[in-house]
Amino acid sequence: MNHMQYQAPDDLLDGRVIAVTGAGDGIGAEAARTFAAHGATVILIGRTVPKLEEVYDQIEKAGGAQPGIYPISLDGAVEKDYRDMHDRLEEVFGQLDGLLHNAGELGQRTPIANYTLASWQKVMQVNVTAEFLMTKALLPLLEKSDNASIIFTSSSVGKVGKPYWGAYAVSKFAIEGLSQVLAHELEGTSNIRVNCINPGATRTRMRATAFPAEDPATVTIPAAIMPTYLYLMGSASEGITGQSLDAQ
Ligand code: NDP
Repeated sequence: MNHMQYQAPDDLLDGRVIAVTGAGDGIGAEAARTFAAHGATVILIGRTVPKLEEVYDQIEKAGGAQPGIYPISLDGAVEKDYRDMHDRLEEVFGQLDGLLHNAGELGQRTPIANYTLASWQKVMQVNVTAEFLMTKALLPLLEKSDNASIIFTSSSVGKVGKPYWGAYAVSKFAIEGLSQVLAHELEGTSNIRVNCINPGATRTRMRATAFPAEDPATVTIPAAIMPTYLYLMGSASEGITGQSLDAQ
């Protein structure tokens, strides 16, 4: 089966609790709405509360299970904040079956020769270190699930380096590495599968910032790439781990 054409049953994620980072905008907002539409209780993680509230309202209006909102700044958070996140999610939801690491920081689009340390550190913090810390903290909760899925978000520049993509490209190479390391560590000893998605060019704020001259109308909308997200989050991908899938 081609995951890009995957047709998920409406009840695919019934009874599942799934956390999505960067859930207030772009691909993350679409993924949160989509998981909720397929039965999941979604935890909306992000830094801009009004945006998370908007997605919350959309999910409730569509008849989805009441979501949770978890505000956190991924560039400011420290290890204890993620331990607190674990404790709070355990207390409120009692389970966690899926974690979509979607939030991302583009950083500068400039040659390495001009790239600033500040931009480098922020991109690496938001795109790699936060994923490491959040995953580490939430693993005990995910371990309790009979069938859990962790999805990291990569990019085409996380597989082939391209000029001027700087820390963003390096961070996406790193996330592919983190995903593979974790997948192999958990394989055979846990029910957690770990994979990457490369969304491909998708019509979002980040895409418009990276390609200001592009006509957004020519770019794929987030809803069109959801089959791969549903495939990796739901039971159809049980046993699939350590993979990096293109969503288009
Ligand atoms: P958007 O800019 O639309 O969304 C990014 C999300 O990440 C926003 O919700 C944003 O929050 C959140 N975020 C950014 N920085 C932080 C932070 N410090 N703390 C908490 N949340 C933060 O981008 P996309 O939807 O396009 O990107 C989603 C993922 O897909 C990213 O990982 C990106 O690298 C990847 N990707 C996207 C492609 C595309 O063509 N769109 C192609 C390849 C990969 P807020 O709304 O509050 O700013």
